[in-house]
Amino acid sequence: MKLDVNALRYLSKEDFRVLTAVEMGMRNHEIVPAELVDRIAGLKHGGTYKVLRNLLKNKLVHHDAAKYDGYRLTYLGYDFLAIKTLVNRGVFASVGRQIGVGKESDIFEVATEDGTVLAMKLHRLGRTSFRAVKSKRDYLVHRRSFNWLYLSRLAALKEFAFMKALGDHGFPVPTAVDCNRHCVIMSLVQGYPLVQVKELQNPDDVFDTILGLIVRLAEHGLIHCDFNEFNIMIDDDEKVTVIDFPQMVSVSHRNAQMFFDRDIECIYKFFNKRFNLTSETNEEQNGFETDGEESGRPSFLSVKKVAGSLDKELAASGFTRKEQVEMEKVGQFIEEDSEEHNSSSDDDIDEIGDAVPIDSLKIEDQDHHYEPDGSLASRNSDGPEEGTSCSVENG
Ligand code: ADP
Ligand code: MG
Repeated sequence: MKLDVNALRYLSKEDFRVLTAVEMGMRNHEIVPAELVDRIAGLKHGGTYKVLRNLLKNKLVHHDAAKYDGYRLTYLGYDFLAIKTLVNRGVFASVGRQIGVGKESDIFEVATEDGTVLAMKLHRLGRTSFRAVKSKRDYLVHRRSFNWLYLSRLAALKEFAFMKALGDHGFPVPTAVDCNRHCVIMSLVQGYPLVQVKELQNPDDVFDTILGLIVRLAEHGLIHCDFNEFNIMIDDDEKVTVIDFPQMVSVSHRNAQMFFDRDIECIYKFFNKRFNLTSETNEEQNGFETDGEESGRPSFLSVKKVAGSLDKELAASGFTRKEQVEMEKVGQFIEEDSEEHNSSSDDDIDEIGDAVPIDSLKIEDQDHHYEPDGSLASRNSDGPEEGTSCSVENG
């Protein structure tokens, strides 16, 4: 998806005020009545309607007049709100080229004021799975939990919380920098996804390191669930970094053993195919407690016996059971659909254009705050509105 941050520069304070009003309205309306947008935004002299036309022209909102005159945010509109908030917080100052297109995300380089380049992941739940959900699961489309903006925010919140916790426990993951709405900012990983690596100096060592990570994760109580050559980055020194966490589950998940075995199987298969590593070359010396069967692979049951409680720590950190359950449901759809639409290939690296400085974008902090029913309460706010921030404490 094209992210033309140039448009951001030309948006006024009123534009953002109305865009934020549409977002607020979407808490309890799929399509927000124009009147409600106007009431929330509170611009004088019918200003809201003029601004809405401008937002529509810039594709930041979608107009729907099927039942009544109404609007909803587009992903682009949601992107702009997140980017604006993060720029205002001083997290970064410019957006650069696109460096990745995942199954359910777009990844861009962003740069801080002092020139440090970071990675920005915009979650796009439903991009590939929406068709499947729509055709196979019509009944779910009407449920609030299948609001894609909400689910993308949840995915970002979960990814940020897990990345932070895993980093704190010494796992090789990107450094979690900040998060807002559906957007996660993290350190830029050097190197390439393993899928693009045709040759390794020490494939045995890399293989052992990767298996070791799956085992150590499980010993901490977690299973990645999408541990494959697309989500493992390798740099020139063959150092491994694991990315992409929204689908992780606890070792106490009812399908934990299946997920664990599947992660292991993926790695075996890939190393066998790409680097000709056969089971015999590795199983004997890798030192893992195995399942005692012919396969000789790390055993879930023996790992689970010693499992720590990072999963519980995370559950206690604001990522609630309810949210976890909703994420898992979405995970199922993405999985069902991903075989047809898997877009992770070498062609995916798509340059969007040169870096655009957007430090001229700062608008003053909002001086008002919205109640959950959409009504306006005046107060001074020094942060993003409640519920859009991803700090781990306030789920
Ligand atoms: P998805 O959940 O959509 O699969 P990923 O997190 O796997 O998204 O990211 C997709 C691609 O973007 C990765 O394969 C990788 O090439 C690139 N990427 C993601 N995060 C980073 C990062 N922190 N640094 C560098 N590249 C990244
Ligand atoms: Mg991925």
